[in-house]
Amino acid sequence: MRFSYRDDQLLVRETVRDFVRSRIVPNADAWNERAEFPLELLPELAALGLTGLAVPHEYGGAELDTLCIAMVMEELGAGDGSIALTIAAHNSLCIGHLLIGATEEQKARWLPPLARGTYLGCWALTEPSSGSDAVAAQSRARPEGNEYVVSGTKQFITNGSIAGFAVVIVGAGERKLTAFGMPRATPGLRVGRREEKMGLHASDTAQLVLEDCRVPGADRIGPDGEAFDDVKRVLDRGRIGIGALAIGLGRASLETAIGYAKERKQFGKPIAEFQMIQWRLARARTELDAARLLVHRAAALADAGLRFTDAASKAKLYASEAATRAVDSSLQVLGGYGYLQDFPIERHLRDVRLMEIGEGTSEVQRIVVARELLRVD
Ligand SMILES: Cc1cc2nc3c(=O)[nH]c(=O)nc-3n(C[C@H](O)[C@H](O)[C@H](O)COP(=O)(O)OP(=O)(O)OC[C@H]3O[C@@H](n4cnc5c(N)ncnc54)[C@H](O)[C@@H]3O)c2cc1C
Repeated sequence: MRFSYRDDQLLVRETVRDFVRSRIVPNADAWNERAEFPLELLPELAALGLTGLAVPHEYGGAELDTLCIAMVMEELGAGDGSIALTIAAHNSLCIGHLLIGATEEQKARWLPPLARGTYLGCWALTEPSSGSDAVAAQSRARPEGNEYVVSGTKQFITNGSIAGFAVVIVGAGERKLTAFGMPRATPGLRVGRREEKMGLHASDTAQLVLEDCRVPGADRIGPDGEAFDDVKRVLDRGRIGIGALAIGLGRASLETAIGYAKERKQFGKPIAEFQMIQWRLARARTELDAARLLVHRAAALADAGLRFTDAASKAKLYASEAATRAVDSSLQVLGGYGYLQDFPIERHLRDVRLMEIGEGTSEVQRIVVARELLRVD
């Protein structure tokens, strides 16, 4: 195993890090207060290639490998969880599904505007009554001539109310799923409730309501009733990104705590000299480093074309929980000041909690890991 990164990967990381420092960190509080995704940022994200991370050059994307995308997601997470989650849902979920399941003709139609950031994409799997058990979806698609008539409600959809294009996955009976590509203007597709959340306030989360949506047969992604395999593959890759995003949030909090611990004096000396403070900082740094190794190993397996389902679940499970611990511990280092909105850690703590829930809860990741250990289906 080689512990080195290519120059082009390091260059991408530096470029994104600079952008995050200059454009995202100074505005994150204001965007979160506004409680909506800052659409004015989209052209800048697109200019950096962040709206087409894995998309091949021929469709207008940056064609980055999975490891490089994980590096990008960590940098975005270190800037703001909401911006990072918006980019993750657009790239790993929406575009990720198209890269895995769409035909060449569909890719040529749908990928260029998504990769160029003309609009954001979303990916709608979850329903009010089916989350972890996604194949229990109640939505349905009824064939009618050359079209499908699609009905149902999709819940918790990141970018749901602002996306110009959605990959919508509906139930097909007998624990099967079918996927469709749906432009915003699809008749019968409307935005339902916009959710108010604990954190990630600048990330849009909405219900999508499908009322007898008429979708051309040519817009079905993959064979009828066989989307579940593609969904699992989308989530495998997505989990690497969520793990990386979590590490970014943990890292940003830890950096704040380190700076604070050196400055803040109690009992006549900087609190950084107290062993219990050092223990917190050392544990957080060690766990974040371990998490990064798991995330990058999963990404490297994916890039090598090897099986990475179980590696991605371990990475997402450990990284999200380690990051939550790191943010929480960093907040404690700041004492009462950590609890104030003057420092970003309280926002990071509200944001990082989602990483243990979205794209498969920690319980679901443990099921995946145990299944691999026990080799049962
Ligand atoms: C901010 C946000 C953004 C999201 N973005 C998207 C998106 O873009 N697209 C999308 O499709 N979905 C999205 N989701 C949905 C998310 O993926 C689900 O919330 C998640 O998969 C869990 O589903 P659930 O909320 O229905 O919980 P449930 O599945 O009802 O789970 C409830 C609890 O039971 C546990 N549990 C469930 N099954 C088992 C089991 N077999 N064994 C042990 N424990 C179990 C869970 O771990 C959890 O603790 C988002 C959610 C949020 C909050």
